[in-house]
Amino acid sequence: MIPVRDDVRALDGYHSPQVDVAVRLNTNESPMPPPDAWRDAFAAELSRVDWHRYPDRGAVALRGSIADLHGVSPDMVFAANGSNEVLQTILLTYAGPGRTVATFEPTYQMHAQIARVVGSTVVEGERQADFTLDPAEMRRVVAAHDPNVTFLTSPNNPTGLVEPAARIDELLDASNGLVVADEAYAQFANWSALSMVDESRPLVVTRTFSKTWSMAGVRLGYVVGPTWFVAELEKVVLPYHLDAAKQIAGRLAVRYVDEMDRRVRAIVAERERLSQAMSALPIAVTPSGANFILFRPTDVRGREVWQGLLDRGVLVRDCSGWPRLADCLRVTVGTPDENDTFLDALREVVT
Ligand code: PMP
Repeated sequence: MIPVRDDVRALDGYHSPQVDVAVRLNTNESPMPPPDAWRDAFAAELSRVDWHRYPDRGAVALRGSIADLHGVSPDMVFAANGSNEVLQTILLTYAGPGRTVATFEPTYQMHAQIARVVGSTVVEGERQADFTLDPAEMRRVVAAHDPNVTFLTSPNNPTGLVEPAARIDELLDASNGLVVADEAYAQFANWSALSMVDESRPLVVTRTFSKTWSMAGVRLGYVVGPTWFVAELEKVVLPYHLDAAKQIAGRLAVRYVDEMDRRVRAIVAERERLSQAMSALPIAVTPSGANFILFRPTDVRGREVWQGLLDRGVLVRDCSGWPRLADCLRVTVGTPDENDTFLDALREVVT
């Protein structure tokens, strides 16, 4: 075997098993497809693409549509293949060997994972037992390590907790580096840091089409940040990284923002119904501002509950073996029928 980089050998890959079951509530996808009108418009435009040509390298039309959606200028928008590639590009640009990236655990694993893959040092701050972030811990980590990039995920994954706006302000005050607010689930929550983005602050906000836009299959995400930040990312990303189909898909998607809002409202209503029903069982439920719920059965081991649900045809995310998440599972909000199937199975398994 050819020796791989020492730091890569030490890494574990990112695992999210794709098991073939009737009810799949493990990857925070939307349970509803995008509107038929979007599908038709997409198909019509695809038939007119000049496939022998490279796509628009600057993704000008796509970025313009996203910029209009948020009332910012297109040079404040950078898009890539899922928000994961956005995060990777940010870290390739602002982190890397000799640089430090801070996270507050437990949080989205890919932040630390990508940071390590690009050669950065990762420092992990600790959330409290209820998964909230103590501002004093935040300031301690930033003062001790002076990170080049600090992540704050709101709503956080896998906890579902929404960070208060004050936490972003405090982080910006304390830190000399870039602050990345990962808002993959922000439309399910009651506020967003987008309005705080401007030229004078090192704050950037990442978003995705995978969840609220019902387009996980498209692989499209973006970041809104100061123009000086976007200009640096453009130097780092590969030429023509966004294919023609993806650019069309995203540009057309934002025309259906009202449909997206309706889907989000339906999922939020189901989330609240699920949370209430789960709270009546011997289960500790973390309050969620996202399209998933983190929960810890109190009388049965988490791993057993996960297996019991799977035996009944329901797949949820098993976080029970992750650091700081002993016995915890995460369920994605599905359709009302899927949620009923989940609740019935859960009642059987935990009582
Ligand atoms: N950020 C967070 C917090 C996520 O949970 C996810 C998806 N699980 C992503 C980013 C990446 O999403 P995508 O690459 O599909 O845009």
